[in-house]
Amino acid sequence: MSDQAKNAFFGGLQQTLDQLREQGLYKPERVLASRQGAEVVAQDGSKLINMCANNYLGLSGEEWVAQASIAATEQYGYGLSSVRFICGTQTVHKKLEQAISSFLGTEDTILYAAAFDANGGVFEPLFDENDAIISDALNHASIIDGIRLCKAARFRYQHNDMADLETQLQAAAGKRHKVIVTDGVFSMDGTIAQLDKICDLADKYGALVMIDECHASGFMGATGRGTHEHHNVMGRIDIITGTLGKALGGAMGGFTSARKEVIDMLRQKSRPYLFSNTLAPSIAGASLAVLERLSTSTELRDRLHENTAFFRKEIEALGFTIKPGTHPVVPVMLFDAPVAQKFAARMYELGVLLSGFFYPVVPMGQARVRVQLSAAHTRGQLVTVLAAFEQAGRELGLLKN
Ligand SMILES: *Cc1c(COP(=O)(O)O)cnc(C)c1O
Repeated sequence: MSDQAKNAFFGGLQQTLDQLREQGLYKPERVLASRQGAEVVAQDGSKLINMCANNYLGLSGEEWVAQASIAATEQYGYGLSSVRFICGTQTVHKKLEQAISSFLGTEDTILYAAAFDANGGVFEPLFDENDAIISDALNHASIIDGIRLCKAARFRYQHNDMADLETQLQAAAGKRHKVIVTDGVFSMDGTIAQLDKICDLADKYGALVMIDECHASGFMGATGRGTHEHHNVMGRIDIITGTLGKALGGAMGGFTSARKEVIDMLRQKSRPYLFSNTLAPSIAGASLAVLERLSTSTELRDRLHENTAFFRKEIEALGFTIKPGTHPVVPVMLFDAPVAQKFAARMYELGVLLSGFFYPVVPMGQARVRVQLSAAHTRGQLVTVLAAFEQAGRELGLLKN
């Protein structure tokens, strides 16, 4: 490569990076020096209450989960150096697949290195140009990418809009198989998909239903099975994808769960499964221990929902505006992007870690800080966080009261 060609390439990258910085869209990484948890230690030694992890059940830094992963490493070793179908499947992987299936109420489950891979590899083996995928406009990036890899006709319905979903189902009428795809819970707003209505429409128009349960598995519904339990449609959902990297332990890993024909086909044809290494035994073993715990007790799920209800009530009493709902994702609306940035920075100084979101991640004028509750938060920590919200809110002149 000539110097000129090099300069054009690397200089071009630098220019784009500089633009991102100027636009406030550059994403710096926060470096932690501790385990993940309700309280974390930053690289500079400061202690922070963490309100922005997907650590819904508080398991990421839990000692018993770490011990389960160590025990699995002792028994099964560090890794497999193989894809599943050559010599990368151990008893612990099969046990985990069974445990996920029985937790979700499905027939079979296939593991992936991430939910991103599960969504990336689910459409292409099951649907082709004769079929239609009808997808919520705000579905996760991995669903969008997965759909792109598939030749099926694409129909997009306006976010959470059941009338538009019906219009799109009608538009897809000539297609052989139809599948409606939605996040079970949308993580920007904590919006819960209307699965009861979606299943009714699916019945009416002969469509399958697929949900992505990354922000639901482990804590939505009376026993934490997910959004399908929450909406009382267990058994009416055809395909469930999810992650082991959020509530269910927090390391990494993903899955697709469905009828056995679907899973069997994915094992034969799904490219992120066929051409990528097997999930580490430590993760499989720890995830299994987590599911065993969640299947015998709703204690963590109950504590999470108590924390959520407490925080939602108290933050509104302080005079902040939140998106109404019941999910542990609580968007505290600040509307203005620079205000959201200043607010998050001030909260950091006050010992609270949270993240600001603004356009283009959320619509213009909808800037916010997003709070995520965890079962690991103590009442005392939440009171401290609320006091910091009040102080930062007063300083920035944001409080109605
Ligand atoms: C986080 C997330 C994913 C990706 O999960 P990973 O296991 O981290 O790849 C997919 N879908 C949704 C809705 C998510 O929130």
